[in-house]
Amino acid sequence: MRRKVIIIGSGPAGLTAGLYTARANLEPIIFEGMQPGGQLTITTEVENFPGFPDGIQGPDLMDLFRKQAQRFKADTRFTHVDKVDFSSRPFKVWTGDELFESDAIIIATGASAKLLGLDSESKLMGYGVSACATCDGFFYKGKEIAVVGGGDSALEESLYLTKFASKVTLIHRRDELRGSKIMQQRVLDHPKIHVQWNSTIEEMVGETQTGGLTGVRLKNTQSGEISVFRCDGVFIAIGHQPNSDLFKGQIELDSKGYIKTNPNSTYTSVDGVFACGDIQDSIYRQAITAAGSGCQAAIDAERWLESQN
Ligand code: NAP
Repeated sequence: MRRKVIIIGSGPAGLTAGLYTARANLEPIIFEGMQPGGQLTITTEVENFPGFPDGIQGPDLMDLFRKQAQRFKADTRFTHVDKVDFSSRPFKVWTGDELFESDAIIIATGASAKLLGLDSESKLMGYGVSACATCDGFFYKGKEIAVVGGGDSALEESLYLTKFASKVTLIHRRDELRGSKIMQQRVLDHPKIHVQWNSTIEEMVGETQTGGLTGVRLKNTQSGEISVFRCDGVFIAIGHQPNSDLFKGQIELDSKGYIKTNPNSTYTSVDGVFACGDIQDSIYRQAITAAGSGCQAAIDAERWLESQN
């Protein structure tokens, strides 16, 4: 099957690119991937997406994005792309054994927060466990929270969360922070932040039915001692990884694996392949900026296709 545009990924960037390309009569297919709707489907209430003055649940917002794209006949499929070949045109995309060809490709596969990988962590995600301070910090006004990690993300999130929390405990697995010196100093000097050194989380404690997280079970990496630390929320800030494995060797990536785009556009190193959203943005990483760049990618793709005729 051949299309004018295939979109890979279905967060705010992919579905906005779908809406715009569908309205431009480009009949896009959107391959939604492993996490249809993207990262917002693992958050609870979204309060900073314009147009929803009372807030909206992340999964509901993404359902609305999808419905709006479908209204203009975007062909959304709950399918994962296994392989791509951008070496010649039309570009090739495989889902299992099925081959699709396309004149243009829009990549919107996003990034994923690195997680600790505990069962209790996935169970309590959205119920006291979060991977996004900007999204969820507001819900912890006057509460005691913990942040996991020792890099700039963890330091930045700890400082940000002091705006809401009564106390922030930074849990780090070593006795030395990895983040920049200036951020370290700010954290260490902050009266609301305490650092729990040489500690890893063994288990998130709490039940979704009874109000969620109540604390974490900590292990001291030096002594092996186990203790329970009471807190109302845990923010995991051990880094993000762009979902770009599929494109390695096909398209230019930066040293951290993000797709390189030309300044002020969504053009990539391969003519006819565009990238939008978190897969090419390690700085802003917001639903609204991702949606904006999805719109840009659709317009770039539409104009590029016209220029090929
Ligand atoms: P990072 O620098 O890779 O730091 C990750 C931190 O998480 C490290 O302290 C690491 O511990 C810890 N960690 C990793 N896996 C863990 C695990 N399984 N369990 C417990 N702890 C774990 O990541 P980042 O903080 O997201 O920063 C990424 C890049 O973005 C850096 O270059 C950073 O400077 C940059 N950044 C800059 C800013 C800013 O300038 N405002 C803000 C955010 C990020 P170890 O130290 O023991 O390895």
